[in-house]
Amino acid sequence: MSRDFIYQANRATVVFGAGKRRDAGEWVGKLGKSRALVLSTPHQAEDAEAIARELGAFRAGTFAGAVMHTPVNVTEDAVAALHRAGADCVISFGGGSTTGLGKAITLRTGVPQISIPTTYAGSEVTPILGQTENGRKTTLRDIAILPDVVIYDPELTVGLPKQMTIVSGLNALAHAMEGLYAKDRNPISTLMAVESFRSFKASLPGLIDKPGDLDLRAEAQYACWLAGTVLGTVGMALHHKICHTLGGSFDTPHAETHAIMLPYTTAYNAVAVPELLAPIATIFGEAPGAALHDFSRSIGAPLTLKDIGFEEANLDRAADLASENPYWNPRPIDRTSIRALLQAAWEGDRPET
Ligand code: NAD
Repeated sequence: MSRDFIYQANRATVVFGAGKRRDAGEWVGKLGKSRALVLSTPHQAEDAEAIARELGAFRAGTFAGAVMHTPVNVTEDAVAALHRAGADCVISFGGGSTTGLGKAITLRTGVPQISIPTTYAGSEVTPILGQTENGRKTTLRDIAILPDVVIYDPELTVGLPKQMTIVSGLNALAHAMEGLYAKDRNPISTLMAVESFRSFKASLPGLIDKPGDLDLRAEAQYACWLAGTVLGTVGMALHHKICHTLGGSFDTPHAETHAIMLPYTTAYNAVAVPELLAPIATIFGEAPGAALHDFSRSIGAPLTLKDIGFEEANLDRAADLASENPYWNPRPIDRTSIRALLQAAWEGDRPET
C-alpha cells in the first residue's frame, strides 16, 4: 500500500472546555490585539452582548446582523461597524452564518478572528467561505480566512434546540463521511473522520433525552471539530455537490438538507468503495447507507426531501444541476443514477447499501 500523502495542519489554536468562552479577552491579548467586535445573528444578540461584557477592556462593541449565506451588503455594514468601533479583531459568536461573516471581514480587512461556535456546522476550522451578491453564491478557499483561535465551550450548546442539534450533528457527519473517500485524504484526516463518527455515535442519541448533559455536549463538539477539520483539509464530492445544488438553487435549509441526503450519498458511493466506507458499517452497523438511515431514524432526524417541502416536480431540474460540470467522485456520476438517488431521498426509502 502506498504511503504517499500531503498533510497540512490547521494553524489555529483550539481551546476546549466548559466556561472557556470567558477567556476570550485573554486570547485577544495573546493575539496582540486590544479591541474586539463581537459578531452574532439577531437571534443571538443578547448572548453576544454577554460575551462582549465579559471582555472588559478588550470590548469594542457588537454587530448582531449576521444572516445565512453571508450577503456582501451585510459584510460591508459589519466592516463599517468594525471601523466605527475602532476594533482590531473580531469574535464570531454563533453558527456557520456568523463564522462566515467573521471570515468575510478578515478577507477584506485582514483582522484576526476568534471563533466561538454554538452549532456543529464546523465552519470555524475550514478555510472556506460562501458569499452571496445579487442572488448569486460564490465560494472561495483561502488559508488567510481561517480563524486564529477557536473556543469550544459546551455550555453554549446546551440551549441548541433538539432538532438543530440533530441536523447540525448530521451536517458535520457528512463532512467526515466524504473525508473517508476524498481523493486527497491522508492518514490523519481518516483518523479524524473515524473518530468523529465514533464520537457522534456516543453523543447524539443521548442528547435527545438529556440536552443539558455537558459531557455529551462536549463529546458532540469534539466530534464536530474533527469533522470540520476534515472538511477544511480534504476535498468533498457527490454529497456536498448535491447539498449545494439543493440549497443554492431551491433554497432548502442547509443542515436539514445535509442530514436528509447523508444516507443516500453514502449508499451511492458504498457500492464503489466499500472498503473506504467500512468504518461507518463497523461503528453504526450493517451496510453504511442503511446504517446511517437507521441511525437518523432512531434520533428523530428528518428523513425525506418531501418533509422539508421540496416539490417532486423539481427533482428533474435538481438532477440536471447536480450532474452537470463533471466533478470527482469515487463512483462515476450520471444523470440517471442521480435522478434515482434524489427520488429515493424524496420518498425516504431505506437504502440497501
Ligand atoms: P446558522 O449559523 O445559520 O444558525 C441558525 C440559527 O440558529 C441562527 O438564528 C442562530 O443564531 C441560531 N443558533 C446558533 N446557535 C444556537 C444555539 N446554541 N442556541 C440557539 N440558537 C442558536 O446555522 P449553521 O447550520 O451553524 O450554519 C449554516 C451556514 O453555515 C450555512 O450558510 C452554511 O453554508 C455555512 N457553513 C459553512 C461552512 C464552511 O466551511 N464555510 C461549513 C458549514 C456550514
